[in-house]
Amino acid sequence: MKLKDEIEKLAKMQEIDSRIYALAHEKNIIIPSKINELTNQFKKSKEQLSTFEEKNKELLLRKKESELELASKEEGLKKAQGQLYQLKSNKEYQAKLTEIGSIKADISIAEDNVIDILDKTEGIKKETDIINSELKKAEGTLNTKKGELNERIKNIEIELQSLATKKSLGAKEIDPGILAKYENLIKTRRGIAIVPVKNNSCGACHMRITSQTINEIKMYLNLVLCESCVRILYIPEDSE
Ligand SMILES: [Zn+2]
Repeated sequence: MKLKDEIEKLAKMQEIDSRIYALAHEKNIIIPSKINELTNQFKKSKEQLSTFEEKNKELLLRKKESELELASKEEGLKKAQGQLYQLKSNKEYQAKLTEIGSIKADISIAEDNVIDILDKTEGIKKETDIINSELKKAEGTLNTKKGELNERIKNIEIELQSLATKKSLGAKEIDPGILAKYENLIKTRRGIAIVPVKNNSCGACHMRITSQTINEIKMYLNLVLCESCVRILYIPEDSE
């Protein structure tokens, strides 16, 4: 086994693993959080709508109450007016007239009240209609986006399958002991096990690499690890 060859194979394997890591991250973290975010936005809009519906219900109730009040005042007015001509003394007659005047004033207030509630109901209805139509649009968009993201997951799964095949083929060509070390690092180092030295520093954590370590790497006697992030270091072909 020539260590230089094994390291070259590991560097190629790392390209596959980096892609696998990125795709798995997208599939397991990014897409679910996007779906979550979209669903929550939609839920919030829905909650807004139900607040308006509550307000609408309350107004309908108040409208009923005001209409009943108005009807009873009108009934009272009719009664008082009927009584007016049965009264014998002028004093009683004057008192009834005052009562009638006061009932009429009450009726006018009750009528204003009903009109006010009707205006408010109309305003709420308009707003509810707008929110409703926006909600329908938002639901459509939500479903389209969810569909796109699920489609993306399917494509990721297909690509992951083909990468797994490539990886297992490549793995057969690598020394088992070295491969085991590499795989362990892939698992524990966020999908990056081997990195090039670039401008005398580690390609992953950017820690400075001494010239002594660089010489060690070039001797290809042992795998040389970055002292800081503990990943396998190598010198790319073109910078040797
Ligand atoms: Zn490092």
